[in-house]
Amino acid sequence: MLQVYEIFKSIQGESTYAGLPCIIIRLAGCPLRCAWCDTEYAFSGGKGMTIEDIVTQLKTMSADLVEITGGEPLAQRKCPQLAKVLLEAGYKVLVETSGALPIHTLHPQVTRIMDLKCPGSGEMARNDLSNLKYLQRHDEIKFVILDRRDYEWAREMVVKHELDRHFAAVHFSPVYDKMQPQELCEWLLADGLPVRMHLQMHKYIWSPDTRQV
Ligand code: SF4
Repeated sequence: MLQVYEIFKSIQGESTYAGLPCIIIRLAGCPLRCAWCDTEYAFSGGKGMTIEDIVTQLKTMSADLVEITGGEPLAQRKCPQLAKVLLEAGYKVLVETSGALPIHTLHPQVTRIMDLKCPGSGEMARNDLSNLKYLQRHDEIKFVILDRRDYEWAREMVVKHELDRHFAAVHFSPVYDKMQPQELCEWLLADGLPVRMHLQMHKYIWSPDTRQV
C-alpha cells in the first residue's frame, strides 16, 4: 500500500515539462521541513491505496504524463515499484524528489527532477550528493532560491559539478512570494550562468483556495 494524499489532473509546473497536461500523484509524508515548504498539508493524512487502485484511477483521467510528487515520494518504500508499473502501462513518468533520499531505486526510464536544497531551506545538510552519480542525462536538477546567499551557493554547485553539462536541465526557481523573480533573473544574466530561470507556473494560475499544484 501507498499513502496517497491526492491524485488530480493539472499542468506540470516544475520542469522542462512545465505547461503540459499531467496527472499528479501526491504521496503523503516527508522527513524534511524546508522553511518555505508549500505542501505542508501533505505531511500527513491521505488514504491507503494499492498500486492497482492507483492505476485504475489513472485510467479514468486522460493524460500520458504522470508525476509522482509529495511530500517526499521516495520516503514511501513502494514508490519505485509504482513508477515502474506506470512506465510499463505506457506513461511518461516524472518523480520530483528532495534529493535527500536514495534515487537509484527508481527505474532508469523515470525522469527524476531532483532538488538540491539551498541554505535558506534550512535543510541543506540533508542533500545526499552521492545521488548525483545516479542521475542520468535525461534527469533535471532544481534549486529553489530564497536570497543572494542561496543564489551564490547554487551557482557554486553548478560550476563545481558541471551540472549543466551532465543533465537535461538545471532550474533556478525563486521562492514564491519571497524572492523577486526579476532580481534572480538579473543575477543570472549578469553571471551568464547556463541554467534556466524557472517560475512555478501553477502558482500564477491558481490561488491556494483553488489549488491545482
Ligand atoms: S522536501 Fe518538499 S515536501 Fe518536504 S519539506 Fe521540503 S519542500 Fe516540503
